[in-house]
Amino acid sequence: MVSVAGVKFQRPTALPTCRIYSSLFPLRRGKGLTGLKNLGNTCYMNSILQCLSNTPQLTEYCISDQYKNYISRSNKTNGQVIEEVAALIKVLWNGQYKCVASRDLRYVVGQYQRIFRGVDQQDSHEFLTILMDWLHSDLQTLDVPRIRETIGAAEKAWLDFTKAKESMILHLFYGQMKSTVKCVACHKESATYECFSNLSLELPPNANECQLSQCMDMYFSGERIHGWNCPNCKTKRDAIKKLDISKLPPVLVVHLKRFYADTSNTGAYVKKQNYLNFPLQNLAMNPYIARAESRAGTPKTYQLYAVSNHYGSMEGGHYTAFCKSAHYRRWFKFDDQVVSYLETPNVVSSAAYILFYTWLPPAAPVNSVGL
Ligand SMILES: [Zn+2]
Repeated sequence: MVSVAGVKFQRPTALPTCRIYSSLFPLRRGKGLTGLKNLGNTCYMNSILQCLSNTPQLTEYCISDQYKNYISRSNKTNGQVIEEVAALIKVLWNGQYKCVASRDLRYVVGQYQRIFRGVDQQDSHEFLTILMDWLHSDLQTLDVPRIRETIGAAEKAWLDFTKAKESMILHLFYGQMKSTVKCVACHKESATYECFSNLSLELPPNANECQLSQCMDMYFSGERIHGWNCPNCKTKRDAIKKLDISKLPPVLVVHLKRFYADTSNTGAYVKKQNYLNFPLQNLAMNPYIARAESRAGTPKTYQLYAVSNHYGSMEGGHYTAFCKSAHYRRWFKFDDQVVSYLETPNVVSSAAYILFYTWLPPAAPVNSVGL
């Protein structure tokens, strides 16, 4: 471990074949390698903010001030959340500080959601889901041209969700799920559509070690439900409910449901500590998409670029982030104010809680910043 200006870097075990090692040390501090101070159990927030800061397209959008052209002032959060997130991302990427405090952002999110105000530990997944919703509505000013008169059910549901106003956040992070219910007696199908900013997957029961593909298979395999009001049979029937992705987003966020209510123990929340194997490269989503989307020309294979980790139990835990810097083209560990090198084989661990995948090219951001 080497400490430069108080920032700890883990020396690579083998001298790298790339220029990164030599180019990083003279910098003292690095672009996007600024830590975030813990303001009293705010590691859940810090973990998510570092994952977002390492999303090159979002970072570029903030640093280049493009977001300023699209701020909505007529929504619940008045454009304040994107302003604070953008201000923080700029500071994280100006390369001047070894760590900073995200007090202004924390104040703003605390104003709109009480649970983020106090010093209690919160769930990073809940924070991410709410933050995405706020960021989307803060930037929801893009008009959608109506190209055709007749649109399909999936497009109609998308339009119902966006109210014909879209955002860069929507384009980057939001997908759409198709839920099909099929009567086992008459085979009548009924489909509904819902937008999502992340997938929430169950872990297989009774398995200490599992694969991400197992969780995906479970989620998308379909389940038998009872007492469905079949519109065709006009009576209650058994039916098969099946999920398929009808729109894959460029950034696919996958949440692992590690916390659950233990019904055998007064319903207290406990944590599943399963070791989950997940691919760093080539996560194939083809098996899980609806037929119409499978014909669309968008890529369906994803690369991992960030992980929000949770260590410990429900009562006492700690969050960190592992992120692949698009600037240095390697992995770093963000543990509140400390940023250190991370060897690629250590990215997969039993602490993995939220996975950030993308099919976008790993474009190095922020060349436009005056550094
Ligand atoms: Zn039926």
